[in-house]
Amino acid sequence: MSSVETIHVDGAWRAAASGAQREVLDPADAKTLAVVSEGGAEDTDAAVAAARRAFDSGPWPHTPVAERAALLRRVADLLQRDRETIALTESRDTGKTLEEGRTDVDCVADAFRYFADLVVGEGPGRVVDAGTADVHSVVVHEPVGVCALITPWNYPLLQASWKIAPALAAGNTFVIKPSEVTPLTTVQLIRLLVEAGLPAGVANLVTGAGDPVGARLSEHPDVDLVSFTGGLASGTKVMQAAAPTVKKVALELGGKNPNVVFADACATDEDFDTAVDQALNAAFIHSGQVCSAGSRLIVEESVSERFVAELARRAEKIKLGRGTADGVECGPLVSAQQLDKTEAYVASALAEGAALRCGGAQPEPNAVRPAAGYFYSPTVLDRCDRTMKVVREETFGPILTVETFRTEDEAVALANDTEYGLAGAVWTKDAGRARRVAGRLRHGTVWINDFHPYLPQAEWGGFGKSGIGRELGPSGLAEYREAKHIYQNLAPKPVRWFGG
Ligand code: NAD
Repeated sequence: MSSVETIHVDGAWRAAASGAQREVLDPADAKTLAVVSEGGAEDTDAAVAAARRAFDSGPWPHTPVAERAALLRRVADLLQRDRETIALTESRDTGKTLEEGRTDVDCVADAFRYFADLVVGEGPGRVVDAGTADVHSVVVHEPVGVCALITPWNYPLLQASWKIAPALAAGNTFVIKPSEVTPLTTVQLIRLLVEAGLPAGVANLVTGAGDPVGARLSEHPDVDLVSFTGGLASGTKVMQAAAPTVKKVALELGGKNPNVVFADACATDEDFDTAVDQALNAAFIHSGQVCSAGSRLIVEESVSERFVAELARRAEKIKLGRGTADGVECGPLVSAQQLDKTEAYVASALAEGAALRCGGAQPEPNAVRPAAGYFYSPTVLDRCDRTMKVVREETFGPILTVETFRTEDEAVALANDTEYGLAGAVWTKDAGRARRVAGRLRHGTVWINDFHPYLPQAEWGGFGKSGIGRELGPSGLAEYREAKHIYQNLAPKPVRWFGG
């Protein structure tokens, strides 16, 4: 991709009003991958005005649900048609492996199809029994209006689809602002929406920085809802900026996700192999740059030594390299900033008494791992506890901390001892304990004997500081709607409340 006209307003592609541009870097070698328009407040205002016009006067909010759903399905088909191109772009932009990029495209197509099916399957509203045959009372759902969609860099296309698909299914118009670090596949997705036949002004895109573009969207009086996925610090600012206009706010923030392993989950060699394999996957897929990464291993003391030794042995063997290279299992971190952050967290953990079991440094460069790339070896830190910064804060890098427990109560207490509450897992062969622990975990998703899978049909989101609201599932559509109660008196008569 070379075009710098990456701002899409009212059906037309354009450069930033200021003429500013930004280089997007390939994290595998720090070279320029593409140049995009660096939008500012003026571009943002133009995009919001277009979305406002399209909502207030355009056909989209009133388009029959079946037609809206048909468009979403066309987008899904176009995504499958362009699967390889988009997966390659996502892999090069984020650093993730090509196979992960392909999986993302499939999941994105699934999200579009899911929300298409969901709206078509709904009735026209919920009839409410008013207690008298003289009243017809029904609750209907209408689109919220103009939605600002702000997305992060780790799953740029996937996070965009979890917002765009329900927003469109519900009949809204939107302005999306992808992360300035990884904007490329969002540009491709908007092109597909246009190709699928979305009317001009419904989908608008501003590439640019969090401040000013995201900040302006959050405070804008003509925006009715802001749906944000990203870090806690930015999410807090979005909420503050949105408060004066009392717009709806949905936040999908970070996580510090526990992976609780009981000894009985390691009873046989096969069980042990599965639990270790999944702990690796939980912590290190996409180099740990996953909001639901299982970055805290909480393992029963009696098996911890064997478990951690095997985990470290396998973590050392993970093949790091450019995401598009054959045989590579893990790509680089997304940016120099993420690399610096990871190094700082490991240094602080060691200073606070953690024991390094593997990793803890950048790997040696080789043919698939240029020296200038942001690579960091998967790192296992043993003997950690809750006083350590590396255990309390979301590192968003390839760092796994290990804590141990002796009792079920202790395991639950450790797993819940976080300000976040996005996701967690429990590994045990004891069905009763699995359900008990799952019931006590204060996290939005709990896996039993698994880690990471999600379903478009099931809500995704967090307790505590992991956010507000839910994406996916019926609640993920409800975020983009207003409920309206229509009460019709079929036989009006005077109420005689006043005598005159
Ligand atoms: P970030 O907060 O730095 O940026 C996210 C987005 O917000 C970007 O588009 C950025 O430009 C924008 N932004 C920055 N400052 C802003 C401001 N003041 N106002 C409005 N927008 C602003 O996050 P990131 O580093 O891109 O992504 C990593 C974070 O995202 C992690 O914390 C991760 O856990 C979280 N995340 C959460 C989920 C989830 O489903 N809960 C999914 C993916 C990522």
